[in-house]
Formats: sequence, structure tokens, C-alpha cells
Amino acid sequence: MSEKIVIVGNGMAGARLASELHARGGDRKVTVLGAEPHRAYNRIMLSTLLAGKIGEPDVELAEVAGQGVDLRFGVTATAIDRAARTVATDDGDRIAYDHLVLATGSRALVPPLPGLDGPELPPRIVPFRTLDDCRRILAVAEGARRVLVLGGGLLGLEAARGLAARGLDVAVVHPVPYLMERQLDPAGAAVLAGTLAGLGVTTHLAVAATAVAADADGVRLDLADGRSLHADLLVLSCGVRPDTTLAAAAGLAVERGVLVDDRMRTSDRRISAIGDCVQHDGTVTGLVAPAWAQARVVAQVLTGEDPLARYRPRPPVTRLKAAGIDLAAMGDPGGTDGDSEGEELTFADPARGTYARLRITDERLTGAILLGDNPAVGTVIQLFDRGQPVPSDRRALLLGRALGVAPAEPAATPALMPDAATVCQCNNVSKGALVACWRSGARTVDAVVAGTRAGTGCGSCRDAVAGIVGWLSDVDSVEVAR
Ligand SMILES: Cc1cc2nc3c(=O)[nH]c(=O)nc-3n(C[C@H](O)[C@H](O)[C@H](O)COP(=O)(O)OP(=O)(O)OC[C@H]3O[C@@H](n4cnc5c(N)ncnc54)[C@H](O)[C@@H]3O)c2cc1C
Repeated sequence: MSEKIVIVGNGMAGARLASELHARGGDRKVTVLGAEPHRAYNRIMLSTLLAGKIGEPDVELAEVAGQGVDLRFGVTATAIDRAARTVATDDGDRIAYDHLVLATGSRALVPPLPGLDGPELPPRIVPFRTLDDCRRILAVAEGARRVLVLGGGLLGLEAARGLAARGLDVAVVHPVPYLMERQLDPAGAAVLAGTLAGLGVTTHLAVAATAVAADADGVRLDLADGRSLHADLLVLSCGVRPDTTLAAAAGLAVERGVLVDDRMRTSDRRISAIGDCVQHDGTVTGLVAPAWAQARVVAQVLTGEDPLARYRPRPPVTRLKAAGIDLAAMGDPGGTDGDSEGEELTFADPARGTYARLRITDERLTGAILLGDNPAVGTVIQLFDRGQPVPSDRRALLLGRALGVAPAEPAATPALMPDAATVCQCNNVSKGALVACWRSGARTVDAVVAGTRAGTGCGSCRDAVAGIVGWLSDVDSVEVAR
């Protein structure tokens, strides 16, 4: 009898797992339950959709369909019976499993403010997590002039920039004294605030919201300093919480996320968990690269391709996806994790919106913030990602001047990139993998993207991939093979 695998959640992790299982063939039945009413989509491109740079069809994820895969949209798993090995759904079904995978993701946090405590959010107040949220924001924005964004983290700023690009007057309210405090330092955040101001986004920092009132005419946000801000739309971007409801109700071990081991197994060996809903080695990630790496591990283990496959987390690199703002942040640039030995380099040119801070320990980059035009950003990410030694002339990294270091942008001179260099962070695709795909017959950017998945996550490496394909097309294949 064929093995029955049930995946709860048709988001970025669940949909990827279904596709990884499908790609490995075999005789198994895979059922995917997705609470959202539509096909799987690329959630991280919602910022770009909000900014009007792409349309809804561009965020759809290629789906597995066909024999052995049963995709059910708009169906929520309501309970797990671990003894009977069944999942109950809100449409009255009970689905048997041999192995269950939880990919329930996370939910947007709604702050506990007066005015937001009802069962439904008032009109004109929308969180930013799902495609439906995005549709609602755009519908309200249609007739709006002024927008407030509560939360100055990465997503709040992406939303703010996107809405400002649509000609709206946008203000961000952030309770912390500086923006994106998880990735930036105060000096870098000040430069970012200046860049945002130039793009039509005002920031109110170090002030908490105390209450919200909304009606059909508009929204009022009361602040702790006594001011009240008025707008036509309020976007909530106050963080996310792993969705562990189902797991906790089933008695699985849960802390901030569903606890998993290196093979993504929960406290029940018949149940795995992947993506935003998990806590691995004390960490909850909230990023797509780990979610996709975890999906791969589960597929390898469940299909027997590599029963001993293990998830090995890689240090995350954060990039802001907002037109007119180049920002990359990684590691611990401030040395706050106790590294007092490290070497620290900073450069700031606020008038030009440029800021760079690097931390180097034992000739290796342990953290960096690069804001504004810095042609070395690709090189810095590579050095950080691979833990390679930094060049002796540090100015090359700090200022982006090619002073004896290899290429600034990977795609600019791909010939000099090491094969092991990671080009696509979301899918962990190296230059070597792109070259191998080209050698195996893919001759266009689309074919190489389809063959390797490079560029299908946040899309920030698309130019680099195109540069490498262009270089491969130009050079003699014999030379490349050498
Ligand atoms: C606007 C935006 C921009 C982002 N940008 C980036 C970025 O640039 N880089 C990056 O790495 N990450 C980014 N992220 C985060 C990234 O989207 C998440 O890390 C990723 O989506 C996690 O995938 P997941 O499948 O675990 O969760 P999700 O994508 O949230 O999917 C979980 C799915 O499970 C469903 N579900 C939950 N419970 C049930 C149930 N009981 N029954 C059935 N279905 C259920 C949910 O409805 C949802 O569809 C961004 C997120 C947002 C919102």
C-alpha cells in the first residue's frame, strides 16, 4: 500500500515540500491542506505586488499537480488525532496519515490596543501577511491620501515604500528609537530614515501607539506623547507569531515554535514540522531560505533518498526589497554577541544616503550593514556566507572600490567568482550549480532558473543569474569546462 503523507499548510514551506516529494517520484499519496482560499503564492513578493511592480499572476508559485498529489484550498485542519493518525478538517473530512508535516507558518501580530480588541479588525485597518491582506490594503489605498504604518521593521518599511511609490502620503510609527533595530544600528537607521524621507515616507520614532479608532471616514492613531495621527488607512506590521495552535492542541512539544530536531521531527516521530512554525535549536527564523532547506530535508528523509539528512542552518542575510533603497544586513555588525576582539569599520555619508559598517574577526566577516550605493555588496555577502578571508585592503568592502579584490557584484565578472559562491540565498544555489545547469543544456535565463530555482525566492539575484548566463553564452564552452 502506498504511503500517505499529509501536509498542513500550502504556504511557501508546504508547497515546496509537495514539489520536493513529487520530484522524487515513488508510490505515495500526498495531501496538502491550505486554509487560504487560493493557490500557493510567493508570499515574499507581496511587498513588490503592493508597490505595483508586479501583478497577482507573478506571485503564483508553480504547483505540483497530478497523480498522487491532492491539493485542497480553503480547507483548514482543525485537529490531529495522533493515536488514530488522522487529521480532521473544517469541511468535515478526516484524513488518515502515515506521516504528517505541519507547515502552518506564522500569523501577523495584532497589538493589544484599545480599538483593536474586537473579533474583527475595524475597516481601514489591515495587517500585512497574506494575499488577501494585500488586496484589502490596495482596495483601501485606492481612494486614500494618507497612510499610517504601525511598525518600522523590514516589512513595515517595505509596505511604506510601496505605498509611497503609489503617490500616497505615508508615515511610519515605531516604538523603538530607530528603524529595523533587529538588523541595523542607530547610525545606519538614521541614514535609512533620511533616504525614506526623500522617498515620501515620514517616520515617528520612540513613540508607542496607545489606541486606535476607525470608522468609514478614516483612522485615528493615538500616541503615548499625546499626539493623534489621522489617515485613511492603517497598515499593521507589528511582527509575527509562529502558528502552533494545531500542534499544541495535539500535545506536541511547543515553545515559541513547534520543537523539531535536525531532521525536522517533532516530539512525535510520525509528525514533522517545517517553516515559520518551527523552533529549531532555540531559533524561530521567519525566513524563506530555512523553510525551503527544511522542506528538502523532510523530502530526503521521507522518500528514503537520504534518511540521515539533517537541517544545517546558515547565517541569514537580510535585504530590503524597496525601490530606491539598497540595504543588506547580516550577522552581528555591532559585536553585541560578546565579540570585543573584532575589528570594526564604518563609513557614513548621510547626504548621499550611504552607510557601511563591517565587523571582522580573525580575518573573517562576522557582520555587516551596507546601505546605499555600494558595489561591493555582492562580494560582502559572499565573504560572510562562505566565511572566507577578507582582503587586506578593507576599503574595497567598505566603499565598494575594487582595490585588489575580486569582483564587486557577482554578475559583473562571473569568471572570477568561485564555483562555491552562493548566488541565490533563498534557494542556496551556487555559481557552480548554475554552470552545471547550463552545461547540461539550459541555454536561457528562464531555463537556468527553471532548472536550479535560482531567483524564484525574493528575486534579488535575478540580475546576477542573468549575468552568469550571459557570460556562459559568451565564453567558449571548452573554456568554461576547464
Ligand atoms: C510581505 C512579506 C515579505 C516577506 N519578505 C521576505 C523576504 O524578503 N525574505 C524572506 O526570507 N522572507 C520574507 N518573508 C517571510 C516569508 O514569507 C516566510 O518566512 C515564509 O512564507 C514561511 O513559509 P511557511 O510556509 O512556513 O509559512 P506561510 O507562507 O505563512 O504559510 C503557512 C500556510 O499555512 C496555512 N495554515 C495555517 N494553519 C493551517 C491549518 N490549520 N490548516 C490549513 N492550512 C493552514 C496558512 O493559511 C498559510 O497559507 C516575507 C513575509 C511577508 C508577509
